[in-house]
Order: sequence, then C-alpha cells, then structure tokens
Amino acid sequence: MSAPEQEMAAAMLRPEVLAFEQYSPGLSIDAIKERYHLHQVVKLASNENPLGVSPVVQKVIKRKADLAFRYPQSGNPRLVSALAALHGVNPGCIVVGNGSDEIIDLLVRMRCEPGKHNVVTFRPGFSIYSLQTRFCGAEFREVPRGQALNFPWDALLAAVDENTGLVFITTPDNPTGFTPPVEDLLALCERLPASCLLVIDEAYMDFARPQKRYSLLPHWTPAGAGFQNVVFLRTFSKLYGLAGLRLGYGIMPAWLADYMWRVRLPFSVNILAEEAGLAALADDIFRRASLEVTHAGCDYLTRELQALCCQVNPTQANFLLFRLPLEAKIDAHGAFVKLLEQGVIIRHLKSFGLPNCLRVSVGAEHENKTFVAALRTALEA
Ligand SMILES: *Cc1c(COP(=O)(O)O)cnc(C)c1O
Repeated sequence: MSAPEQEMAAAMLRPEVLAFEQYSPGLSIDAIKERYHLHQVVKLASNENPLGVSPVVQKVIKRKADLAFRYPQSGNPRLVSALAALHGVNPGCIVVGNGSDEIIDLLVRMRCEPGKHNVVTFRPGFSIYSLQTRFCGAEFREVPRGQALNFPWDALLAAVDENTGLVFITTPDNPTGFTPPVEDLLALCERLPASCLLVIDEAYMDFARPQKRYSLLPHWTPAGAGFQNVVFLRTFSKLYGLAGLRLGYGIMPAWLADYMWRVRLPFSVNILAEEAGLAALADDIFRRASLEVTHAGCDYLTRELQALCCQVNPTQANFLLFRLPLEAKIDAHGAFVKLLEQGVIIRHLKSFGLPNCLRVSVGAEHENKTFVAALRTALEA
C-alpha cells in the first residue's frame, strides 16, 4: 500500500481495523509444485476430508445448479429440521451459518460490547475467536495450556470475571487433538458465572471414539439447570467434506437462536450449500466411509510416528500433533521444509506458539504412506 493510501486508511478506519495484519496464506499446491519441480503434492495441512466430496452430494449439486438464480428460503427450514432430527433437539435451537465461522462472529458481536466485555479461551487456539473478538473491539484473554497440552481449568476460571461475555472451548481441540472427558465440561458449566456464554466448538466431535464419552451435547437440554448459557458449534467442513461450500451451525437455547436469526445476514447459507448439506446428512455410506478411513489412518499414523520415535499427542480428531525425537538432527521447521521438498504439506505449529510441534491431518491410505516415507527420509538425512 502506498503512503497516501495508508494515510487515507488511518483517517477513515476504526483503530481495531488498523491493528489487523494482512493474512498470509501458506504456499498453494501449484506454487509448491513449481518451486520444487514436483508432479504430485500431498496436502495434509487443513484437516480436510481425505475422501473429498461424496459422489451423491456432487450429483445433487449438479442437479440443483438450475436453482442458483433463486434466493434461498429464509431461515433454511429444511436444513434446520434435518439437523434438529439428527441431534434430537428442537428446531428452534438451531442456527445455520456460512461455516461455523459465521456463528462464532455472530456470538461475539451479539454478546460483547466494545470496550467492556472480554472473551476467554486457551492458547494456542482457533484464530477466528481472536480475529472476531478484536474486530469487535472486545478484549481477548488467552490462557496458556500446560506443558502436557491439556486444559488447565482453574487457570481458565481465574481469567473469567464479571465482564467475560464468552468462553470458547474447542473439543476435540485444534491443534492439539486433546479432548477432555464430558465430566470436565459438566463441572465447568457449574463453575462458570451464568452471565457468560460457554461456546463449545465441536468441529471435530464427529470423529471421537465414542462421542458420548466426550460430547456434552447429548447431556444438554436447553432448559436444563446450568445449560441456559451453553452453545455448541458443528460444521460440514470436516466429516462431511464440504469445507469449500461453507456450512456450519450452532445449537443453543431458543431465545438466543431467535435473536441470532434476527441479526444474521438473511441469505448467508446459499441454496447449493443447503441442498448439499441435506444430501450429506442423508448419505450414511459416505459418512461411514469417512469415519473408517479417518480412524484407520489415525491409528496407522500413530503407530508409524511412534516407530520413528516421535512423541504423538493423543487425539480424538482427524489430525495428530507430534514432536520429533529429541535426538533428531533436524528441528520441526527443518522437517516441515524437508517434507515440502518431497511434496508433502503439513503444518508447523510455530504460528500457534508451539515451535517444536507439527500437525498432520489424517489423509487417505496412500497419502499417509507418502507422508511417513517422506518423514523417514527427512529424519535420516
Ligand atoms: C475447521 C474448524 C472449524 C470449522 O469452521 P467452518 O467455518 O465451519 O469451516 C471450526 N472450529 C475449529 C476449531 C476448526 O478447526
């Protein structure tokens, strides 16, 4: 940006906006192919579904393409009903959004008054919580995790005060994979002040084995004591393989959902995303296949990483956080680069504040094998 443009921005924009830095996306698959002269690139960096998009859903999207000239039905009632049936909750408790990112943004702006409220979560965590909180002009409070990368509940509660509008808990956690037992969440509900919304981001809960050991959702009744202030987030981006269509949802007390529908942009879930979501929910075969490939891949990667003497964090998600062996000749960043050179993209967690950790998404069988072979090469070099 030129100096006059910068001056213009400074004169025109809110200070919260000026404090934002430009988002730096990683190298694209094409850029990596070009830079390292590769034909094949395996991307295990964004926790996407290794099976891609369900063929049934693809067919539905093509068949429904002729609807794209219409506005979607206000309130996406068919999708809301299908989700209510899936979770056994009242349709009035569900709000669908342009990814669960949209629900996160709405929650922050509905609850937090700029300059007054704060938002509390563990560090490192999902970037959208902090971006939307800062954009809103509210204070963002991050509580460091312990060395064991678990959740220090007492420290979290110590950061909460009467101006805490929201607490975000990601479970299974991204990027660590850590997943607390449901008893911990029940205890947290009891200890949090009723004035604070507890948002439980379950983007990866579909992968947990078994869900009922970890998810608070089956225990939840919106009118139940201690649950008046709990919101659950779910997404079609992971298990359902629809990250690019942008579809997620929140499950929350009806009074909150009612107001959320009022402030939400009216057509943020587009007509093809809605049709795709409905088809995906009905597609048991693809869902089962996705779970199978993810669970088998997760077990395979755990075994192979341990065989390479890496330290693997236990996970209930579709990715693994690991550290290289102490005696390795390269560090995490070195391994990340050596994998890139071999056409394998994973995440170095430096930007999450974990410079000696790497995160690999579970891929298809051949992708996982390629990754393990490339890591072995990197460690031997
Ligand atoms: C992937 C992910 C989501 C999903 O976001 P969408 O906007 O639904 O794609 C939400 N929370 C966390 C922690 C995630 O990793």
